[in-house]
Amino acid sequence: MAPASVLSEWPPKLTEAQVHELTLLATSYAFSTGLLYLPPAKQQPPIPESAIHAPLALFPSPLPRRLFEQAQRIQHIYNILYARIALDEEFLDRIMGAENGVGKVDDFIGQLWTGWRQLRDEGLVQPLHLGLFRSDYLLHAPPDQAPTLKQVEFNTISVSFGALSERTAGLHRYLQAATQYYNSSPHIRPENFPANDTVAGLVEGLAAAHKASRILFVVQPGERNVFDQRPLEYKLLERHSIHIIRQTFDELAHSASLDPETRVLRISVSPDLHPDGFFEISTVYFRAGYAPSEYLTPVHYQTRFLLERSRAINCPTIALQLAGGKKVQEVLTQPGVLEHFLSDEARWGKATFGPQELDELRQSFMGMWGLDVGKDLLTPDHDALESGKEGFGVSRARELALSLVLKPQREGGGNNVYKDSIPSFLDTLPPKERQSWIVMELIVPPNGTGNYLIRAGGANQAALKVDVVSELGIFGWALFGGKDEDITEKGAGWLVRTKGKDSDEGGVATGFSVLDSVLLQ
Ligand code: ADP
Ligand code: MG
Ligand code: MG
Repeated sequence: MAPASVLSEWPPKLTEAQVHELTLLATSYAFSTGLLYLPPAKQQPPIPESAIHAPLALFPSPLPRRLFEQAQRIQHIYNILYARIALDEEFLDRIMGAENGVGKVDDFIGQLWTGWRQLRDEGLVQPLHLGLFRSDYLLHAPPDQAPTLKQVEFNTISVSFGALSERTAGLHRYLQAATQYYNSSPHIRPENFPANDTVAGLVEGLAAAHKASRILFVVQPGERNVFDQRPLEYKLLERHSIHIIRQTFDELAHSASLDPETRVLRISVSPDLHPDGFFEISTVYFRAGYAPSEYLTPVHYQTRFLLERSRAINCPTIALQLAGGKKVQEVLTQPGVLEHFLSDEARWGKATFGPQELDELRQSFMGMWGLDVGKDLLTPDHDALESGKEGFGVSRARELALSLVLKPQREGGGNNVYKDSIPSFLDTLPPKERQSWIVMELIVPPNGTGNYLIRAGGANQAALKVDVVSELGIFGWALFGGKDEDITEKGAGWLVRTKGKDSDEGGVATGFSVLDSVLLQ
């Protein structure tokens, strides 16, 4: 069977009894291996006593091997690219700053940038940044075109599902070993299930940054996704003998302080837990802090800035968080910008990339422009912004709305505006806020791929067969910022999230997607 036809005949046919048995095996495996969520925050006692299984796909999703390998190859260039962006203060000030960049009209970005600039003026003591990244892709397959991978976005803060995706890959491998999926497809063979070692990969990045006593995990109150976070903690202990401490922003407001001389970060704890009454922190790993709703008072921003003022290495730094803005992704598509970061030989010496490598990155870009631009789709149309008239960026977005998505500078899902919702959204958007939105062409996923999706509770308890779209995520990390301009970076496993074809949004935490894995073809 030719590979292309696999996509249009997926999932393989199963009887009702087979679906039922696979569902039982899959959910049992999820409970046995921690492929789980905590119940909603309101129902959580301080010490967990129940959990539900994560939303899951019964089959892995087919993906051409060549594209899977390509995504892993270009991850190394992306790791370096985003490290260099985070180090380019002039660039971030211009694009994301509060004087003329996105931070001028987006309060959240403006607050982060302004705090960061103050820290820079005062002098930072820790030059190193640690990024744990995830670059997300969809298959793009307009009619009569061979499928290619197109980047949805590049995440630089609180990237999740490393642990759960590793477990989901394990689940599909287990279902194959246990049942051979009832010989429903000749493509379901062990060699087509790629290994996924994401937890060890991400933990290697954290361990590379670690020096002093503990790593601080900054987490959200009432977090339900703890089973995606705890495995990193267990692996740090098992493989690197590194201890961690988990705290929310609210807890840190009371517990965190800096040694006045050395700016070493200390977290006070009960002497019953440690005789010194505090832990020294080497590395701050954020699984929080990406949404404005987490910074409800100035104290929350002050806490964030205190962590960055310290000697601890922040994952991510504010610079890296700003580098992950959707605006930066759009600016990277403009002429000369990739060249600035990757192929300026005078600047990068040995670590210069050639035209072929830049081409490969560019081929993963969809078309993008700022909502505030004029006729050239590159530079802001100041006349239109000041008069409140509709500039070319806006009228073009209206005209092509059905093939576009609008994105603000936000993370975590549920913030975008799609297709026929675009015109009425544009009618009400205040002109000055155009600067904080980007316009992106919609990726056109292949038709005819389905799967069985299993969600805990509600009407969908049984496996539900639907047409689906799968989003591939590639993890990576980079440690950089020391004097010699060296960037230590690695790839670190992968993720697949699958959603019903009718949903525009993705996201597992937001309830749109389920966890999935890859079947190479
Ligand atoms: P967030 O940072 O909130 O995750 P994303 O840029 O990933 O924002 O957008 C959320 C979801 O919207 C994606 O997971 C994907 O399903 C969908 N999406 C985003 N951009 C595109 C696009 N260009 N084409 C098709 N779908 C897209
Ligand atoms: Mg996303
Ligand atoms: Mg994101």
